[in-house]
Amino acid sequence: MKIGFIGTGAMGQPMVGNLVKKGHAVVAYDAVPAALEAAVKLGASGARSAADAAKGSDLVITMLPSSSHVEAAYLGPAGVLEGAAAGRLCIDMSTIAPAVSRRVAEALRTRGVRFVDAPVSGGVPRAQEGTLAIMVGGEAPDVEEARPILAAMGSNVIHVGAVGSGEVAKLCNNLIAGVAAVAVSEAFRIAEGFGVDPKVLTDVISKSSGNTWVMEHMHPVPGLVAKAASSRDYAPGFTTDLMAKDLGLAVNAARELRVPVVVAPAAQQVLRLASSHGLGRKDFSAVYQFLRPSSGEAPV
Ligand code: NAD
Repeated sequence: MKIGFIGTGAMGQPMVGNLVKKGHAVVAYDAVPAALEAAVKLGASGARSAADAAKGSDLVITMLPSSSHVEAAYLGPAGVLEGAAAGRLCIDMSTIAPAVSRRVAEALRTRGVRFVDAPVSGGVPRAQEGTLAIMVGGEAPDVEEARPILAAMGSNVIHVGAVGSGEVAKLCNNLIAGVAAVAVSEAFRIAEGFGVDPKVLTDVISKSSGNTWVMEHMHPVPGLVAKAASSRDYAPGFTTDLMAKDLGLAVNAARELRVPVVVAPAAQQVLRLASSHGLGRKDFSAVYQFLRPSSGEAPV
């Protein structure tokens, strides 16, 4: 299949690599020349614009940072809408607002172009292995058409519901993971203050009700989980800035729905503060570094 792939950053590159390995012809485009060159090195051919990548492709995939980038890449000048032929299927794998997925889908639909949202979980290592979890929103026949291509990049492809539903599932997941990272960091800072060995505490919690995937796989305390970002100076992984963005998407969605949310906005602000203090491009588990105790001289 000839696939137009737009957005070849940290995640897009290994995903392109897996599509090429599975024998697909990939035509890539990225606004940053170095990112496009990296995709070309992996075996893709380079396009001059999103429209150019979409033109002549059987299918279009986008992997972009946020809602505004997705709107620009599909509906802006030299965007996908200008290049994709009627009847084509587009798969947006970025994490964005569900309402934006629906708006883009509707704009494409008026021109006969189909759209599914298919955000991912797993980060760069699982993108490299081709074992991402992929949550898909769209019409059932479109999702089934996308499934073999998605299977080249992920091992768990789940159809959640209508367009936008994949994004809803992703926001709910990241709300939990983002809050857990802050909670685990706070707990381990308290334990540390009391002189409790973090390794022993990890053993206790892993067999208790506080156990979380974040502690097991992305432990914020360095040296306890070999493959965690904390054990390589918090090199991402999934950046603090991206997690703050995802918590913001969850908070905005809750506000639109009038659902009260208290813990998610608090975690979002902690991550934003960590970002303001230089940790934005570090893995989000670096929030542990940010949550240092204040000076021993400060009154309690
Ligand atoms: P990234 O910033 O590394 O890559 C995005 C790329 O899109 C960049 O190379 C950028 O130049 C390009 N781009 C932006 N606007 C463009 C446009 N209009 N046309 C063409 N190219 C454009 O981000 P990433 O880490 O690859 O993440 C991509 C998406 O995947 C985000 O929504 C993120 O939340 C989600 N995600 C990331 C991870 C992770 O671990 N990095 C995990 C799960 C989900």
